[in-house]
Amino acid sequence: MCGIICYIGNQNTVPILIEGLKRLEYRGYDSAGLAAINSENTGSLYLKSVGKVAELEKKVKKDNIYCDYGIAHTRWATHGKPTEINAHPHTDCTGKLFLVHNGIIENYESLKNELIKNGHKFISDTDTEVLAHLIEDNLEDNFEEAVRKALSMVEGTFGIAVVHKDFPRKIIVARRGSPIIIGIGDNEYIAASDINAFIRYTNKVIYLNDDEMALLSDNNITITDLDLKEIMKEPETIDWEYSEDEKAGFKHFMLKEIFEQPKTVENAIRGRVIDGEGISKLGGLEPVLDRMLNLKRLTFVSCGTSFYAGLYGKYLFEMLTDLDVDVDYASEFRYRNLKLSHQDGVVAISQSGETADTLAALREAKRKGALVLGLVNVVGSTIAKETDAGVYCHAGPEIGVASTKIFVSQCVILNLIALLLGRMRGLSIFEGITLIKEIKKLPGYINTVLEKSNAIREVAQKYLPYENFLYIGRHLNFPIAMEGALKLKEISYVHAEGYPAGEMKHGPISLIDEKFPTVAVATNGFTYEKMVSNIQEIKARNGKVIAVATEGNKEIGNIVDDVIYVPETIDILQPLVNVIPLQLFAYYFADFKGCDIDKPRNLAKSVTVE
Ligand code: GLU
Repeated sequence: MCGIICYIGNQNTVPILIEGLKRLEYRGYDSAGLAAINSENTGSLYLKSVGKVAELEKKVKKDNIYCDYGIAHTRWATHGKPTEINAHPHTDCTGKLFLVHNGIIENYESLKNELIKNGHKFISDTDTEVLAHLIEDNLEDNFEEAVRKALSMVEGTFGIAVVHKDFPRKIIVARRGSPIIIGIGDNEYIAASDINAFIRYTNKVIYLNDDEMALLSDNNITITDLDLKEIMKEPETIDWEYSEDEKAGFKHFMLKEIFEQPKTVENAIRGRVIDGEGISKLGGLEPVLDRMLNLKRLTFVSCGTSFYAGLYGKYLFEMLTDLDVDVDYASEFRYRNLKLSHQDGVVAISQSGETADTLAALREAKRKGALVLGLVNVVGSTIAKETDAGVYCHAGPEIGVASTKIFVSQCVILNLIALLLGRMRGLSIFEGITLIKEIKKLPGYINTVLEKSNAIREVAQKYLPYENFLYIGRHLNFPIAMEGALKLKEISYVHAEGYPAGEMKHGPISLIDEKFPTVAVATNGFTYEKMVSNIQEIKARNGKVIAVATEGNKEIGNIVDDVIYVPETIDILQPLVNVIPLQLFAYYFADFKGCDIDKPRNLAKSVTVE
């Protein structure tokens, strides 16, 4: 959601800012803007546009000057419509200060009223503009001090970058609740809300923590807290790679990421299992193993696709461990009056590690004394930092807004955590060995499904005329039905509902007719027979059915309208094979409809507002 990029160094800045903005596009935004300065003659470029970064780029091409530092932003509107005036950067009354902001200034109204009384003139509807005027109001002769004072007066969340023409070759960045990462290049600094924006230039980074600010200037970086007390930080090296051909020949990032999944599974398990002992080895959890041994209850909290990974986790942990297991939407969990104790574990699952609702939930759990674990993809993210311990997906960047490979990665890692806990608490070595053996075969099973992509594409094409879909599954495949429905609605804007198959007759069956098809996840396993009964109920009401079924199952072909066959694995892992055709079905369906698959309307990749 929204993005910041800023640069100071010896290169022409504007192309770097534009490229950075393009790399942030996947996060979701509605307008963009930049301010860049030539410090020799204090000439500047200040441009904004509504819509895609390409629109901003057109303006840059018409009106370009050489600049040696600058800041840029993609805005995801929270306060005020997505207009050019509301787009960032915002400026003060002098027009010399430029500021970009991610987050929400919660007390903006009272601050704004005060500032208006002091004579400040506002032109936008945003909360952000308040910050620009507040810095101006506090500015005497020390830029850092003015920013510090202004930040001490605001409530809410911010990641900011700010420059001032009277203080050339200085960029101040700061954060509270919205990420800022500083890339350290050769005689240059590139700070951004996301490593993707600058990974081409450097993989040496410094993460800002909440209530820290940094002054980036010529060959110098000073990090302080908001009292300007200096903080020493060593750069970390990250292992994400930059690739020129980002889509590797695929039409969309989402398709590329679907096809990456065999590799994603391999990366998730690499070095993390000991085959002969049937155990997993998760370095990130080692410091808390003792506490994990004493847990009574485990609760997964997450949002969106990560919620369905948590839902899968619930069934999985019930099968492999002796724990009580629960799952909740992070946005709901945080308001519940849960009785948590030190024998509770709460697992926060988030791709970005910045999901505001999940962060709020984990803070609540921590407050109540629970052991808080994280399962995130983005290294160094806020959730990774705030949890007691955790595991990374190591899946590389996921650019498609609709998550695919991270979901599978999360589910695989949940298996490893369940194995770890299970083996400490009663799961036999034999069961452990069997699970590891099958996890290792997952990449092969997923490949077999990917090889059928053309057939799945044809099924998607056949069902294009339909505007509503029901997805059903039972037990471990219920989360997969939910996830399949979510994928379809996210990227094709077609109505899809996921349901536990057994619940269908208690309500949704009234929707079924020849115009309302059902996708049934009906692979072999202990709920198969019941699934067949549910499918029969739908067929009896003229409903069309697409089934995901186990290779070799001839029976089902005689009942349903279309079958997508998948290889068979053990019950626990079968959902991770079954989800692949549902991802492909949604992808092709949306592609036939001509949708903007990687950046679906209204959605953001990293949801940093509550
Ligand atoms: N709240 C600010 C606005 O609406 C910032 C939104 C964002 O994070 O992009 O302009």
